[in-house]
Amino acid sequence: MVTRRKVIKSVVLSAFAGISAKFMDNIDSHQNMVNIKFEPGYLSLHRSGELWKRGEMLWAMMEKCELCPRRCGVNKLKGQKGFCNADSRLEISAYHPHFGEEHPLVGKGGSGTIFMTNCNLRCVFCINWEISQGGEGSVRSISEFADMMLSLQKMGCPNINIVTPTHYSPHILLALDKAAANGLKLPLVYNTSGWERIEILKILDGVVDIYLPDFKYSDPEMAEKYSSGAYSYPEVTANALLEMHRQVGVAKPAANGLMYRGLMIRHLVMPNNVSGTKKVIDWIAENLPKDTYLNIMSQYRPVYKASQYPEINRRITRQEYQEAVEYARKAGLTNLEIQGYYW
Ligand code: SF4
Repeated sequence: MVTRRKVIKSVVLSAFAGISAKFMDNIDSHQNMVNIKFEPGYLSLHRSGELWKRGEMLWAMMEKCELCPRRCGVNKLKGQKGFCNADSRLEISAYHPHFGEEHPLVGKGGSGTIFMTNCNLRCVFCINWEISQGGEGSVRSISEFADMMLSLQKMGCPNINIVTPTHYSPHILLALDKAAANGLKLPLVYNTSGWERIEILKILDGVVDIYLPDFKYSDPEMAEKYSSGAYSYPEVTANALLEMHRQVGVAKPAANGLMYRGLMIRHLVMPNNVSGTKKVIDWIAENLPKDTYLNIMSQYRPVYKASQYPEINRRITRQEYQEAVEYARKAGLTNLEIQGYYW
C-alpha cells in the first residue's frame, strides 16, 4: 500500500457519530476546554478474553495462510513465506509520532504510527518501498510490539496507527491484548491498502476503531499492472469498504478536532487517470453515505519502479487534481479532505 509521510492537510469538521464505542464529550464553555471520554472497542473484548481468542484464531490461520486475498496457502508457522515475504515472525521498521497523517489523526502529539515490514500488494510506485518490499525492519516480539503501543501513548499520541497491517493481523490482536492489559486506551487505526478479505474483517469487528483504507483503482487491469497482479482489487476493496463502514460508520471528528471512530478513505490521484478517479468517486457516492470521509490525495510522485512505466513517470498536474475535486463535489460528497495543491 501507499503510505504517506508528507501530506498537506485541510479538514472538514463536523460532529462525531459513534456506533458502539463508549463515547461522550463535554465542553466546559467557561474554560473553553473540551474533555473527551472515549473507550476503544477492543477494551471490552480484552476484558472478556475475546481479543486474545481472536488473535489466536488468526494466528492459526497462518498454518495455511489466507490472511489476505492472495491466499497463498503457505505454512508461515513453519517458516514458509508467502507473496508478502512474511513468515510468522513479526517484523517492524519504525514507530514514532507522525505529523503527516490526516489532521484529525495528528492532534498535538502526532499519530502514533507503527510501520510494519513487508506487504501483500507490492505496488510499483510505493513511496515506502524500502519497508514494504526492501525488507527494512527487524524481528520483534509480541511484547515489544505492545510496548511500542504503550510508549506512543506515553508520548501523547492520540491513536495507534498500524501501517500495512494485513499480513500481521494475528500479531496486532495479540499485542493489542497485552497493551490493553497494561493500560492502552487509544483508538486503533487500521491503515490498509483496502484489499482485505471480508472473513478477516469480520474477525476485526469491534477491535478496530478507525479504518483508514486506500481505494487505489477502479480498473482491475490497472491494479493488475501496477500492484503485482491484484486484478481483484477494485471488487474486493469495494466490498471491504462496505464491511468497514458497517462496523465503524461515518468518520467525523469529535469536539476536540480528533477522530475516534469511523471509515476514512484515501484516494491517490495518479497521472493519466491510472487510478480511475471518477469511477472511484461514483462508487463511493452511490454506495456509501454522501458524508463519507474521503481524502483526495495529490502527492503522487514517481518513485521505486515507476520510471519503468512512462504513463506514471511524472507527478500529476494541477488540472488533474482540480478535476478530481470538482467531480467529487458534483457527485455530492461533502466530507472531503482537499490538499493545498488544489488552490
Ligand atoms: S498474508 Fe502473505 S502469505 Fe498470507 S495470503 Fe497474504 S500474501 Fe500470502
